[in-house]
Amino acid sequence: MQFRDLQRQYLALKEEIDQALCATAASGRYIMGNAVAILEEELARYVGVRHCITCANGTDALTLALKTLNIGAGDAVFVPDFTFFATAEVVALEGATPIFVDVCEDTFNISATSLEEAIKAVEQEGVLSPRAIIAVDLFGQPADYPALSEIARRHKLLLIEDGAQGFGGTIGKQRACSFGDIATTSFFPAKPLGCYGDGGAVFTNNNQWAETIRSLRLHGRGVEKYDNQRIGLNSRLDTIQAAILQVKLKAFIQHELTDIQTAAERYSSLLKDIDGIALPNVPEGYGSSWAQYTLRLESETQRDTLKENLAKAEIPSMIYYPRTLSEQTAFAKTKKYITTPTAHRLTKTVLSIPIHPYIKKEEIKEVAEKIQRSFHPAV
Ligand SMILES: *Cc1c(COP(=O)(O)O)cnc(C)c1O
Repeated sequence: MQFRDLQRQYLALKEEIDQALCATAASGRYIMGNAVAILEEELARYVGVRHCITCANGTDALTLALKTLNIGAGDAVFVPDFTFFATAEVVALEGATPIFVDVCEDTFNISATSLEEAIKAVEQEGVLSPRAIIAVDLFGQPADYPALSEIARRHKLLLIEDGAQGFGGTIGKQRACSFGDIATTSFFPAKPLGCYGDGGAVFTNNNQWAETIRSLRLHGRGVEKYDNQRIGLNSRLDTIQAAILQVKLKAFIQHELTDIQTAAERYSSLLKDIDGIALPNVPEGYGSSWAQYTLRLESETQRDTLKENLAKAEIPSMIYYPRTLSEQTAFAKTKKYITTPTAHRLTKTVLSIPIHPYIKKEEIKEVAEKIQRSFHPAV
C-alpha cells in the first residue's frame, strides 16, 4: 500500500496525460506556452477570484506575495507554529521576522486567541511593525478566515492564505485560495492538486497586485522584454506542468475531490469508536480537501507504537510534523514572543495515515482494522 498512490492516478488518467505530454513536446513552446494562460484562467474560475498567476513552486508563490505587499526588514509576519517550514522561511528570506503563533488542537490551524496574544506582545515591545498574517490550510482544511479577517481588519494587517495543502477546501460556498488579500498554492506532486514536478500559483482579486506578480515572476520585467523595473525572480510554471495540470484539474473537479471526501468519511466511521484516538474535526460549514487524514493519539508512546504496528503490517504512515517551526535550528535565534504549547503537543501525538482519491474501500478497511488491532490486540 502506498501513502499517496500517484501511479494509480497516472494509470487512471494515462491516455489524456500522455497526449498532453506529447502535444507539449511537439509544440516547441516549453516556457509560457498556451497551456499556462489557459490553466490560469481555469484555476481562477474554479477558485472564484479575478487573477491566478502560476509560478515555479508554492514557496515562490509565497515569496511573490510578500514582495508584492512590500514586506521586508522591520516587519512582523504572524505564522502558525505547526506547518511546513516554507511558511516561515519565506518571511525570513525577505528580511522580515516570523512571529510563531499557536494552533487549535482540533483543526491544527492557527488559533485566533493565540494570534491576538502574539499581536499584543509585538505591539507592546514596539520594535517591529506588525504587517501580515500568513494562515495555513493545514491538511486540506481552510483556516478560520471569518475570525482571522476580523482580526486583520482591526489591527490593519494584511492576510495571506497559504493554501499549499488547501486547494479544493471550502467555507460555505467559498473555495480555498480565495481567502484573505492574496492566496497561494503548491502543485508539488503529493498536494491535493499536484503536477509531475514543482509548481505553484498566486491568487488575488487586486488588479495592480496581479500585474506586479506577473512582472516579479519574470525578473521584474516591464512592458518590453529587456526593460526590468524591479528585482524579481525567475519563477514560471513549465508549459509541460500546465498541460498536465489541465488534465488533473478536470479529474479533480469531476470526481477526485468527492472520492477523497468519501474515503475520509469511511475512515471516520470505521475509527470513531476507538478510545484513545481523536479523529480530524471538520467544523460545521467547512469542507476539507484532505491533503492528509491525521489522527491524534493520547501520548507520544501511543503514537509511536501505532506507527510501528502499522509498519509491521506494511502500512505507511507519516508524522506531519515532528517539530514546530520555533524548534527549528534555523530559527534558534528568532525571538519567541509567546508560547505555543498546542503546537508542541501535536508534534508528539499526530499520525497521518494513507489517503488519496484512488484508495480502495478494502484498503481503508485494512488500515482501520490494523489500527483497531493495535489498540485491542486480543480482538
Ligand atoms: C508544500 C508547502 C509549501 C511549499 O510548497 P512547494 O511547492 O513545495 O514550494 C508551503 N506551505 C505549505 C503549508 C506547504 O505544505
